[in-house]
Amino acid sequence: MNNRTFTMIKPDAFSKGYSGLILDRIIQAGFKIIAVKMTRLSPEKAGEFYAVHRERGFYQELVDFMSSGPIIAAILEKSNAVADFRTLIGATDPAKATEGTIRKLYAASVGENAIHGSDSNENAKIESDFFFSVLERY
Ligand code: ATP
Ligand code: MG
Repeated sequence: MNNRTFTMIKPDAFSKGYSGLILDRIIQAGFKIIAVKMTRLSPEKAGEFYAVHRERGFYQELVDFMSSGPIIAAILEKSNAVADFRTLIGATDPAKATEGTIRKLYAASVGENAIHGSDSNENAKIESDFFFSVLERY
């Protein structure tokens, strides 16, 4: 399975009103929305989602930020989805992101960087299952 990825529009981009613009860019780039929901992560759930970063200095900041307001979660389908979506969103640090990428356009800093994209097919499945039941997928 290399045709699906998972994304979240993070609280910074949501609160600035960028959700519609970002979803439009994703669709225009050829990704099909398989599932989508607006939700808010509790600190516990945000910590679980980013558990791989538990030992990093920015972990608590990341958990606080990701639970600070609503997010939009989605499963996306396209050939080569994981890699193509990482290209579309750009580097983790928006200052290093390529022109025209979602983070270059809409992110303010490495911490508040507008959007998440899965980094492997395996994590795309784990992250999709974290948010969506089978009944919530098209
Ligand atoms: P994401 O997993 O959210 O798509 P990424 O894969 O580009 O981002 P990761 O290394 O997985 O980057 O880091 C996860 C998230 O942790 C980043 O998106 C960012 O919000 C936050 N983060 C990473 N590095 C830092 C840092 N140095 N300072 C503050 N926050 C950071
Ligand atoms: Mg990551």
